Amino acid sequence: MTRRPMMAANWKMNKTVSEAEGYTAALIPHAADARGVDVAIFAPFLCLRVVARMTENSSVTSGAQNFYFEDSGAFTGEVSVSMLQDEGVGAGLVGHSERREIFGETDEMVAKKTARAVEAGLLPIVCIGETKEERDSGGMWDKISTQIKAVMENLEVDGDGIVFAYEPVWAIGTGDTASPEDAQDAIGQIRGLLRELRDDEFADTTRILYGGSMKPGNVAEIMSQEDIDGGLVGGAALEVESFVELIQAANETAPDEE
Ligand code: PEP
Repeated sequence: MTRRPMMAANWKMNKTVSEAEGYTAALIPHAADARGVDVAIFAPFLCLRVVARMTENSSVTSGAQNFYFEDSGAFTGEVSVSMLQDEGVGAGLVGHSERREIFGETDEMVAKKTARAVEAGLLPIVCIGETKEERDSGGMWDKISTQIKAVMENLEVDGDGIVFAYEPVWAIGTGDTASPEDAQDAIGQIRGLLRELRDDEFADTTRILYGGSMKPGNVAEIMSQEDIDGGLVGGAALEVESFVELIQAANETAPDEE
């Protein structure tokens, strides 16, 4: 299997522009060394212009943590895909659980945002995952499969045009990680659903990341799982040194270059 691993930092609502500059400058040479890994930074909007400019000729992709599916108009507080692309931003998170839970994003909005990103060529990282209550009550797969089906319905995209991030909500920012086996089980099942909804080619080429308290101490074991193609990382990516450790661990799992 030749899926390229991806390691993505989600800064959430952290970092000033000058902090973003320092972090990005420190990261770029390490990302260049990790030749087998795609590295991305999901920065707050105010930092995005500087991160996009600094990473322009590097192996790091700049990404937004959110965007709207309309291109312009009376949508106070929102930022469109074309605005992001005009600044050189290459990717966008869609449906992070904090957007779904705190800001009320629905499956329908997530699907519209994903479709808009795909249409414009902005790489969407679509976040899916169950809450603790859903897991405990046996509703986990129902939740995840509903989220995925909403996104995939009528979406025309190849495996290299979309990334999924399986993020069990109870593991985000809690220090509580899914065991590598549980993460593999869920992500293997997600890949199976992509196969069912589309075809082998799509299922085998689409990258699926794990997110939820990934850190230097657990990254190697998580990355060694067959279906896990990388990580979406919050807390452990706030310090560049720690994020670099995760990138280096992912690089160990990269397929040999031809
Ligand atoms: C996230 O923000 O997507 C995330 C996984 O956060 P953390 O690594 O802090 O759990």
